[in-house]
Amino acid sequence: MSTTNKNSSLGKIIKVSGPLVVAEGIPNAKMFDVVKVSDKGLIGEIIGLKKNLASIQVYEDTSGLGPGEPVETTRMPLSAELGPGIMSSIYDGIQRPLDIIKDKAGDYITRGISVPSLDRKKKWNFIPKKKKGDEVEEGDIIGVIPETTLVEHRIMIPQGMKGRITNIKSGEFTVTDTVCEIETENKKTKEIALMQKWPIRKSRPYKEKLIPSEPLITGQRVIDTFFPITKGGTACVPGPFGSGKTVVQHQLSKWADSDIIIFIGCGERGNEMTDVLTEFPELKDPRSGEPLMKRTVLIANTSNMPVAAREASIYMGITLAEYYRDMGYKVALMADSASRWAEALREISGRLEEMPGEEGYPAYLGSRTAQFYERAGEVKCLGSDERVGSLTAVGAVSPPGGDLSEPVTQNTLRVVKVFWGLDASLAYQRHFPAIDWLKSYSLYLDNVGNYIKREIASDWVDIREKAMSLLQQEAELEEIVRLVGVEALSASDQLILQTAKSIREDFLQQNAFDDIDTYTSLRKQYLILKAIITFHNEVKRALEQEGVELKNILELDSRNKIARAKMVPESKLEDLEKLIEDIKEGN
Ligand code: ADP
Repeated sequence: MSTTNKNSSLGKIIKVSGPLVVAEGIPNAKMFDVVKVSDKGLIGEIIGLKKNLASIQVYEDTSGLGPGEPVETTRMPLSAELGPGIMSSIYDGIQRPLDIIKDKAGDYITRGISVPSLDRKKKWNFIPKKKKGDEVEEGDIIGVIPETTLVEHRIMIPQGMKGRITNIKSGEFTVTDTVCEIETENKKTKEIALMQKWPIRKSRPYKEKLIPSEPLITGQRVIDTFFPITKGGTACVPGPFGSGKTVVQHQLSKWADSDIIIFIGCGERGNEMTDVLTEFPELKDPRSGEPLMKRTVLIANTSNMPVAAREASIYMGITLAEYYRDMGYKVALMADSASRWAEALREISGRLEEMPGEEGYPAYLGSRTAQFYERAGEVKCLGSDERVGSLTAVGAVSPPGGDLSEPVTQNTLRVVKVFWGLDASLAYQRHFPAIDWLKSYSLYLDNVGNYIKREIASDWVDIREKAMSLLQQEAELEEIVRLVGVEALSASDQLILQTAKSIREDFLQQNAFDDIDTYTSLRKQYLILKAIITFHNEVKRALEQEGVELKNILELDSRNKIARAKMVPESKLEDLEKLIEDIKEGN
């Protein structure tokens, strides 16, 4: 980035308040444009304009800045660089590559350091998919690049462009080289490079938003069967410390059937973030055996970065996610945690002296939260090839003291469709994943139910509903048991408790660290739950008709087999089918 241009007339700092700088008289100042602050060239963004005064949030440490220092606009909004080289990167909130900066400047980022987001020297192998004379429009894929061993990068015609290809190249190019030229309707020539830019606060366009109906298959039983999320869906997960939030996020990243993972880490304490930076690069992609980073981008805010970078990071992350969605990929984005983002918003709003809303958060917390999650979805991408891409967004929140009524959680729950309520007491009892089956919900059940009914089994919805109702009945019966003891319950109520326990232990509990248990296909999930419910129905019938004793039945061989069902390998699902047959025959 160039240093401040001494020749043009410049604005002047009049006040510095933490990450907020107020300057007057910046020529051509415009809302959301990026400015360079002081001779150090600190990067900031105009977030308020009143007459001659601009309020600027600065993405770097402002200590030592003072009134009178120059401010200059770049006349460009805060933008992401989109092109090959994003995948596997670790960026900060304004897309500076952290590893490269670290090599250059050490652990503490030197202020005003300028490193491009995408390597300008690296050459990429561009393989054209169109030829001279082809008519193309915005979103059309003109060629591909093997970006990593797991991701093919698709070069698209930028938004608003249309014409006939007059030249298209093949071979090794840097991100700024022209690889294609098109002639537009009014005979103008447009050059297309491997890289384009996009302002991060603006969502990227698509042709049409679809109603998401296909589940994001995570292999996690409590999620897929009980509280499913669709591809293109939105979810919120609160993460009390030690409740297994990190494990849930890692399991989703590793196992969900998405092509690309964007992980935004807004850590609060320094080491929280370092965890992500050390743990993620260690994860393996179970399907390919390659490092998961080959299809992951990390956006990380380390603790020594000012809050403004945190505020920007979720927009940066979702812009990168939309870009890969536009290529036709299934993208999963995780933000951990959205509460830290909201706190950054609160701090900046406070410094702007805006009227505070609930708990000091700005009144626009709700609308900003909604705008963010609205960028998720399954869409028909721009381009003439009818491809579909999806962006699934999962936001972790960290409600202070686990109090879900606080504003960040409430505003998130208002817009997302799935809630996975991680519960500290379940984690304490070592029930993992510690997702509370009574508090959690998914509003995608109908859509996903139809899909699974069609693809897996016609009675899937009934089985799931029966299981859920048994868990709810258990919660009610537990009150009675506390008062009068189990013995006072009827045999059929005791059976309900037994079955609910079986659902919890043999189905809901899932060990992320066991080779087999870590992932369960939808078919296997169905078979295990079907075995449990079939057993329940058969025992209930026997109790009613034959007058047998419950305790004898519970010692049946089938009962033991149900307890081991989750350990049946995916290659031996016929064992589970046989188990269900045996149960029906009363064994
Ligand atoms: P958090 O990030 O919420 O502080 P972690 O995700 O680190 O919590 O989980 C804390 C511990 O709980 C883990 O180290 C692990 O021992 C255990 N745990 C969490 N989820 C599971 C799981 N699905 N299977 C087995 N153990 C788990």
